[in-house]
Amino acid sequence: MSRRKLVVGNWKMNGMRAHLDEVEAIGRVAAAHPAVEVGLCLPATLIMAGSERRGAAFIGAQNCHMDISGAYTGSLSAEMLLEAGASWVITGHSERREARGETNADIAAKSAAAHRVGMKVILCVGETLEVRDAGQAEEVVAAQLLASLPEGASADWLAIAYEPIWAIGTGRIPTMEAVAEMHAALRAALASRIGAAEADAMRILYGGSMNGDNATDLLAIADVDGGLIGGASLSATKFAPIIEAADQRMAAAA
Ligand code: PEP
Repeated sequence: MSRRKLVVGNWKMNGMRAHLDEVEAIGRVAAAHPAVEVGLCLPATLIMAGSERRGAAFIGAQNCHMDISGAYTGSLSAEMLLEAGASWVITGHSERREARGETNADIAAKSAAAHRVGMKVILCVGETLEVRDAGQAEEVVAAQLLASLPEGASADWLAIAYEPIWAIGTGRIPTMEAVAEMHAALRAALASRIGAAEADAMRILYGGSMNGDNATDLLAIADVDGGLIGGASLSATKFAPIIEAADQRMAAAA
């Protein structure tokens, strides 16, 4: 199965209108590499303006509420984000699981809510350093994935991001063997729930300190179908080498 590489930036709580030039520049890099699906998950304040300057990149959001509307001060529904211009949304990022206490059930509900309005979803999972050091990473992350997976999960609208928590923003990454083993374990877990054909079609991204120096090696791993990138997605100069590395992998696999 050949899966189109998906390379997505997560700007987190970064970006003002002055940074829309970077959105535009990244959109141009995306246009130059049509074999790769490229997106930017912007802070909500930039989604509308960003979607007008996105070029060939899609715009995504970083979170959504699980309900359509209601008395949820400060929250945004998937439908609102879609109307603003976000076609994708990240769910289950560890920064929300940990700091906001989001549970696997919340994440499944948010993912399903996004799908109901026609958005695509990147569902994040990942282990702490304690879990990795205890040799339980694959077992724990596979269980987290199955518990967060929404009803009707399908490769048409859902991608998974494996993001070891200890690798996010730290400059540290797991060994290539560990990434390969985890992605294979996650695909096997998916197959047990949604069937081998659907699991084979679903993209599993790696996230955690991916950059222009390590992207070629990470994206060469058989079950790594792209990246979710924080720091290195904030400028076109740093993001472009990752998109180029993904494009080269697509060409090599063709
Ligand atoms: C992330 O937060 O999703 C992420 C992968 O961040 P970074 O690339 O900065 O480690």
